[in-house]
Amino acid sequence: MTNNIELFNLKNTSIPGSILKLRSCRQAVVIPHKSPDGDAVGSSLALMHLLNKAGVPTHVVVEDSLPYFLNFLPGAENIIIWDKKNTIAETYIQNADCIISSDYGHVSRCGVLEKFVRENPCLKIMIDHHPHPEIEAYDFLFHDITSSSTCELVFDFYVKYFSDISLDKTIATCIYAGLVTDTGCFRHALRPQTFETASELLKTGIDTEHIITKIFDVNTPQRLKLLGYCLNEKMVILPEYKTAFIHLSGEELRSFGVKKGDTEGIVNYTLSIEGIIFGAFFFEREDHTTKVSFRSKSTFPANEFSSRFFDGGGHRNAAGGQFNGPVNLAVNHFLECLPQYKTVLESLHL
Ligand code: 5GP
Ligand code: MN
Repeated sequence: MTNNIELFNLKNTSIPGSILKLRSCRQAVVIPHKSPDGDAVGSSLALMHLLNKAGVPTHVVVEDSLPYFLNFLPGAENIIIWDKKNTIAETYIQNADCIISSDYGHVSRCGVLEKFVRENPCLKIMIDHHPHPEIEAYDFLFHDITSSSTCELVFDFYVKYFSDISLDKTIATCIYAGLVTDTGCFRHALRPQTFETASELLKTGIDTEHIITKIFDVNTPQRLKLLGYCLNEKMVILPEYKTAFIHLSGEELRSFGVKKGDTEGIVNYTLSIEGIIFGAFFFEREDHTTKVSFRSKSTFPANEFSSRFFDGGGHRNAAGGQFNGPVNLAVNHFLECLPQYKTVLESLHL
């Protein structure tokens, strides 16, 4: 634990000690959260490219594989995946003199890597936009929950502390990937600064259509069939709770030959129904536990619901969690918990 936490402060124009230390590191490691999404991977790769360019040798280490549609990002092929290379991943973290957590505020979100992060007493930096960060575990927090994405924060981090390095297409492509992922292609979590950031990224000449196509238009016929099945046969609508949810068992996932990333985005269809404020998507993992995604509209606190009942968290309108059991029990638990939020759901109108 450190008692010397530095917090990113907009008004403070001096370079924090942690950044000076970072700039002279021998070996930095950036760790996105486990089951990484476009914001976690985009921000980690952007930081890797930026730091390498600034003369700080940097690697990205993550617990598990990326969803297939992020493999096009520059540098993705060099990410060290613990699931595939345990010892190498652990050694990189053990030997690092700086560890940067990107797109999560609690060390436990890096999964099996948590132990190695906590054991290394080196400089620790967090770059994140989720509420309730674990501040004691870090020396320097670059944290702002009003930011659309961690990638938007990486851009701020670059402007504030690394503006001597030129922003190139490689870095800008990675940042843009996170921006479009977390805003759902500029639909939510927006603020004026998000567009200013996008504008600066476009000035580098990035191919925005290519990035969007690679991330969002990568359906396989199999995935579309799965989506059709979810919408046609598995969608449950509870008008009295303004809630809709979809659930898939392990057997169903196997019968559709689902691979990592195939279920991404399905939850959003629940919220596209008129009048629905709370949406959920449940799928059973191979170990018979269940992964849950929550999405909400208006002020409904999906993250609070997830942290109270599904050992999770996230943002107000986009959260995730898990249930220690098969999908049917997870759904029963959900239906038991929902009445506690009936009054809140009834009070919200779009
Ligand atoms: P998704 O549903 O896409 O997995 O996650 C939505 C949001 O919730 C993301 O910001 C993600 O980081 C967060 N999230 C997902 N799963 C968990 C979890 O188990 N714990 C916490 N604290 N946040 C999560
Ligand atoms: Mn994010």
